[in-house]
Amino acid sequence: MAKYDSDDASSAGLFNPQGKHSPSHGYCQREGNLVVVRNGTRLPDYCIKCGEPAEHRLIRKLSWHPPIYYLLVLVGLLVYIIVALIVRKTATIDIGLCERHLRRRWAWIAFGWMIALGGIATTVPGFNSQELVVLVPVGMSMLVLGMIGGIIGSRTVTPDKIDDRFTWLKGCRPEFLAVACDPVGGTMSDPWIDGR
Ligand SMILES: [Zn+2]
Repeated sequence: MAKYDSDDASSAGLFNPQGKHSPSHGYCQREGNLVVVRNGTRLPDYCIKCGEPAEHRLIRKLSWHPPIYYLLVLVGLLVYIIVALIVRKTATIDIGLCERHLRRRWAWIAFGWMIALGGIATTVPGFNSQELVVLVPVGMSMLVLGMIGGIIGSRTVTPDKIDDRFTWLKGCRPEFLAVACDPVGGTMSDPWIDGR
């Protein structure tokens, strides 16, 4: 049985004698496909993509605001950005990845950069020659697709919600949920998800 000696953890309702992990090694719960953690948590030492032991750690700085604020884009992009910076909630989460999934993440980043830089290289002749002007939209498309592909392909976790204490994470696979997380309300004497 894991030993719990953190006052901070027990006062936060994280005390969980039946739990799989002590707070110092990261404690999380699963809520459907989401992982719920206290802000600033180090997730357990399992790869979030496959549930195998994690050889690598990655710090993710996450930011979130209620989706309704996206409507402000219709008013003006600058208005949205200013309001979003004011109302957003942030959290830093330390996640684990295995060697295979860390390599896959870097491969996506490299792939995205290659396509994006190839797009820039494609665009340049289009600006210099009337006959090759068709290369401009082709290159610009490659630039955008490379950036989007790289970002999406290398993505690890994203916030579904952040409040003052907890983060609801998307992106952890069922294999991780099975080995690393307790079900919400499963073994908790004092569930801390109340009032979501
Ligand atoms: Zn993995």
